[in-house]
Amino acid sequence: MAISPWSRGTIVIIALVAVSAATYVAIALAAPASDVTTAPRADSPQQVDDKPDMPATSEELIAAALKAGENTYEESLLPRAFINYGDLRVEPHFRNPIEMSSAIGRARRVAMASPVQASSASQPHWENRLVPGTNVRIWIIGTQRDLDRYELMVKNVWGVFKNFFPYPMPDDGTKDSDINVDDAIDFYFVRFDTIDPRLPACQGNSVDLELCTLGADAGVTHEAPPALGNTSSGFALINIDYPPNVIYDTIAHELAHVAQCQYALDEMKPMWFKESTATWVAYKVMKQLGEVPSVAYEWLKHSGSSPIFARRPAAPLTEFFETLHLTLGMPWNQYGSWLFFYYLSMEKGDGIVRSIWQKAAQTPGADGIKAIKEVIPLDYHFPRFTVRNWNQDSVPNQYKTQDDTFTPGLKPGSTRTIDESGPYIKELHGGTLALAADYYLFKFQAATRKVTFNKLPTESNAHVWAIKKIGTEWKEPEDWTGEEYKDFCRDWQDEDLTNLVIIVSNSDLTAPLQRESKVRIIADAVGCQYVKGWAKATLHVKDDIQDVRYTSSRVNLIFRPRDPAYQDMEGNTQYDLMPALVTWTAAGTVHDCTISGQILVTIPSFLNQPVDPSRPAYGYFNVVGMFTGGGDYHSIEVSAVNPEAAFTKTCPGDPPTVTKHFFPGTYLLNIPWQANSYDGDKIVYKGNKQYDQGKLHDFMKLLPPGTQLPQIALDALSRTLSATGSSLYTWEWELRPLTSPQTGGP
Ligand SMILES: [Zn+2]
Repeated sequence: MAISPWSRGTIVIIALVAVSAATYVAIALAAPASDVTTAPRADSPQQVDDKPDMPATSEELIAAALKAGENTYEESLLPRAFINYGDLRVEPHFRNPIEMSSAIGRARRVAMASPVQASSASQPHWENRLVPGTNVRIWIIGTQRDLDRYELMVKNVWGVFKNFFPYPMPDDGTKDSDINVDDAIDFYFVRFDTIDPRLPACQGNSVDLELCTLGADAGVTHEAPPALGNTSSGFALINIDYPPNVIYDTIAHELAHVAQCQYALDEMKPMWFKESTATWVAYKVMKQLGEVPSVAYEWLKHSGSSPIFARRPAAPLTEFFETLHLTLGMPWNQYGSWLFFYYLSMEKGDGIVRSIWQKAAQTPGADGIKAIKEVIPLDYHFPRFTVRNWNQDSVPNQYKTQDDTFTPGLKPGSTRTIDESGPYIKELHGGTLALAADYYLFKFQAATRKVTFNKLPTESNAHVWAIKKIGTEWKEPEDWTGEEYKDFCRDWQDEDLTNLVIIVSNSDLTAPLQRESKVRIIADAVGCQYVKGWAKATLHVKDDIQDVRYTSSRVNLIFRPRDPAYQDMEGNTQYDLMPALVTWTAAGTVHDCTISGQILVTIPSFLNQPVDPSRPAYGYFNVVGMFTGGGDYHSIEVSAVNPEAAFTKTCPGDPPTVTKHFFPGTYLLNIPWQANSYDGDKIVYKGNKQYDQGKLHDFMKLLPPGTQLPQIALDALSRTLSATGSSLYTWEWELRPLTSPQTGGP
């Protein structure tokens, strides 16, 4: 017989050892001991065997482990329960693989210490049958009748399997063999303590029970010849001590592993890639067969029917929705990562996993995630996957949309909730791990009147998505990756941001985001509602030669808050006037001439622009909040001049002389300081002021009480305010914050 690569005596296989249906761990199964020691196994069960003073009973073992601090008391309860009930089936698939495998191993080892299992026992008799319509041969230690139920399961799984993954390659069985009689894939249906009939390392008189029995594992797949290149066939053991639903699922899961062997199943294909996709295949197979894929669901959230596990503090680490902030496919979520492939299959169809495996096989050095990146744009899909994992009603096309048995109520467990009264500036912590997402939920209290989102430039792998709740309504997620900032004026119905979810994800394969990649959320106590009201003015110019009164109309004013980037004075809220229309009416005399008529002044809007006093018409409003010392006042400046327009000057004569008379004034309002008023708890900006341009004393009245101007300013003022006669402005105004959107002019 030709020597196959399997005979070389080096690494026999990389096997996929399922600790249970839900907690599989990786074990490198190899002939040389050195390979065993490099296995990615958290515990070292062999050490237990090697101890010369190994306790004799299970209780002693458990007590010893507890004493040594290896297990917590709580952890020790589980194997105690196993032994007490004499049944390894008690909740075995609800365990944390990292923490529990040690205890399970010990419990199992004790169970194995029974005379029935002596290695000198005679060879068991294996019944077998080729499942019609498949290329699977099933085996059991028992009778043909014992195979019936498994035949049906295998037949059903095989029937739909090709919809999700290619069938495995045939193996190299021969009629000479007792346990591999043809090229069909062999599935051995075994008890927890049955010695593996196929692995060469398990055929001697002294075998490693950890390697050669399933114990609490639900199943295992080993590679098998023929090896073509570095592809192969395989065989599987299925633990029949599990409930039928788990056995069914395990058949599909292990068949997927056997099929994976045709794709250069080597160390370049990471364990998470194998396990997550096999879990996905089993999920799809179960769904198509009309079964509830409870094993896949268990990886997302442990069901309430596992009381021992559900109460264990360490449990969340193996629930996928608790590990979304950790890198996809790491040991703690390598099975739960099936959800990523479910996401992809929702987007790309059920052929996507097959395509990725084919790509992985074709592309040298392409491990799982690199192959995924070759097949789909990860920068596009990964952030959307993290948004779908928000998994709440505002997210369109949820998992439950396609799967009506999908576990309800799953949410990202690592979500950080910020529920504080403002004002505050929160910098999100940055440093999001590779292929992970951080979730933040902001709940804004009534005192927060304005919310600003501000993102500093970030790396290309950083993605930011947001989900807004406006009033009581959640909105669909939005991609804010390209946004530098956004602001929400909560006094506006359509900007009343009550909650905000921020999802920061990182689509890089290895590197965390930089800590400097900051997203800031600013909660302001000062609102930014529009301010609306009216103003009117008169200018009375009187001196030796004239006596003219210029009276404005009662002008409607709407001020719009500047966008946050232009709110450049801390503690102030600055506003620009929306377009307004002023009519000035003149009445009076100059010498013996009469002044009359009206002029119109259209005030344009200069939004978010610096105040430019050289403009003839503009309006600016500034509110200084209460929280700045000496604040709680406003300033308002509305210039209302039309250089083109003139009044009529009619001088006596025959006929009378009619000429233009230009408006000598400037301001509809010019109020540098006015204390804010309150109507109950609502703010009102109003006042009534007189100001004679010729009088220094009047100017001081416009300033805050007690203002001391420096002498140099006083000197300057006394020079400019030296006009004879009087130019008396009378200003009256009243403005209030708008509580509903209004953007039109007066
Ligand atoms: Zn597996």
